[in-house]
Amino acid sequence: MTVPEEFAQRLESAFDGRLRIRWSNAEGAYHVEQRVARALVNFPAGTTDDEAIRLRDGYHLIMVVRTGDRMPCPRCGATVKVPLRTSTLVTCEPCRQRGLEYRIAAAHYPLDDTLIDHLKSIDPLRGMSKALRAKVEAHNAALTQRQQQAVLNQLTDKANDDFAQIAGIPSVGYTGKELTLP
Ligand SMILES: [Zn+2]
Repeated sequence: MTVPEEFAQRLESAFDGRLRIRWSNAEGAYHVEQRVARALVNFPAGTTDDEAIRLRDGYHLIMVVRTGDRMPCPRCGATVKVPLRTSTLVTCEPCRQRGLEYRIAAAHYPLDDTLIDHLKSIDPLRGMSKALRAKVEAHNAALTQRQQQAVLNQLTDKANDDFAQIAGIPSVGYTGKELTLP
């Protein structure tokens, strides 16, 4: 599925480009995300993992929008009724009865102004002065950039290890001892 271009643009302009919406193939739902950092340039292409996509692009998940009024519980798979036009925490009954109390933040919205109005109503930056908003955004950007760098470092380490293994390069530490590759 794709997001109707007209709605994507309306959402972006309503939040001055701060929010975006994209279809998650993995979850089969729309993800509304907020930009909190700069996109990474050297990120491996072709990832389909939602968290990796968000880190790569510098976005943070705000809300999952379901296309229907039913969804599977992420813990037990039981069908859970998704509330229409209110984003509350949905409790999975079978999980709750087993004492697990699984709660899911989800809502079913049509992709129209009711969703944009709802996002405005839950926007934590709404009503703040421009200066304060800039401060919060800078703080979030710094946090996400640290997370992004950590993921990138892991990926680079992994790629370097793979390369050394493929090329048959022995990894030798400064002590002269050979290091064991994973
Ligand atoms: Zn459940």
